[in-house]
Amino acid sequence: MIPRFKPHIDSKELISIFRRNKGAVERFEKEFAARFGAKEAVAFPYGRSALYTFFQAINLQNDEIIMPAYTCSVVAHAIALSGNIPRFVDISLFDYNMDLDLLANTVTEKTRAIVATHLFGYPQDLDVLESIVADAEAKYGHKIWLIQDCAHSFGATWKNRLVGTSGDVALYALNISKMITSIFGGILTLQDAGLAAKIREKRDSTYRISGLIKSCMRRLYFLSSMAAFNENIYGVTWWLQERTSILNKLTKSYHLDQKIHFPPNAFEKMLDVEAMVGLEQLKKYDEIVKARRETALWYDKNLNRHQDWEFPPIVEGATYSHYVVRVPNREKILNEYSKRGINLGELIQYSIPETQAYQEYSKGASFPQAKLSSLSTINFPLNADIKEKDLTKIAKIGRYLQ
Ligand SMILES: *Cc1c(COP(=O)(O)O)cnc(C)c1O
Repeated sequence: MIPRFKPHIDSKELISIFRRNKGAVERFEKEFAARFGAKEAVAFPYGRSALYTFFQAINLQNDEIIMPAYTCSVVAHAIALSGNIPRFVDISLFDYNMDLDLLANTVTEKTRAIVATHLFGYPQDLDVLESIVADAEAKYGHKIWLIQDCAHSFGATWKNRLVGTSGDVALYALNISKMITSIFGGILTLQDAGLAAKIREKRDSTYRISGLIKSCMRRLYFLSSMAAFNENIYGVTWWLQERTSILNKLTKSYHLDQKIHFPPNAFEKMLDVEAMVGLEQLKKYDEIVKARRETALWYDKNLNRHQDWEFPPIVEGATYSHYVVRVPNREKILNEYSKRGINLGELIQYSIPETQAYQEYSKGASFPQAKLSSLSTINFPLNADIKEKDLTKIAKIGRYLQ
């Protein structure tokens, strides 16, 4: 079975989790900042915790924060749980990012921050985004914080500008399903050392340091992930996941439950053992992105162009965290592929403002593009080590589908 995603981990990471790791989190922060064009980086146990603590550190409370309707639900959770109010903007069907015309119309004098996500590795138009923020600041006479969510787009560029290096802060997420991983983990990068110090202070005064047991459990979790994604074992993983609930936490969207909540360990510091894995992964980053770009181009050229399928764009600077196609009959296609040993993904199966939990914020407004995407997208494997013969097989299956 070919998995829908697969962390790019090998003996290097395996060895790293047993090495001396004192001070690894600080080292990881420094190297991460340097790699992604920032002055500072501050590490967290999850991306969502990072966002939550950022809002606290800059004293946003009861304030309106704009975000896309179609993205990972934990972004909305971070806004709501930090005592703020999410306001949603529908996306563009071209690249799944926030529709910037709609964004301009959604900003009001109550807007205090905007979370712009570069979804699926596609860079959002930074020039337009920044001018919307500048115009609104001039019009309303107060600061509007710009957060770039780069969880899918480590190192993507917009017109040769690295995403996440402008605006106030960038968010990266590092769980096992992301482009690079630190087992779990999230990180904020900044250009402003003063602001970084403030965030670090907030983190250090509000996060617990977890005990030894957790770092052992994290090693176990990492080892079992390595095993689960092994080519020869993945068939079992897939079966366990589809037929039982044991593995949902490991490989399915762990945030599908539609409640606004954080896991109990959301405010325990990132572990040094996690940072050790992150440090190894940073070294592989260039190779991972190169492979994903090549595979996306391969799909673009070789997948059968069914008339009623909508293929993703090839965009300069994109990093392709996912290769996403909209199809009219998703269940059937997922089944046809899985019967033949290919596990396709269906990543974001909700339009956040249209979920039960966010009705009170969206008051019945509709987000047609987010909704359509939530119902019709599938994504193809982009694992950095996917083999030519597997790609050929994927393309061949496509030719027989109606
Ligand atoms: C993964 C992800 C996050 C953060 O996820 P955590 O699980 O909290 O680390 C944020 N935004 C997007 C778009 C993501 O995909």
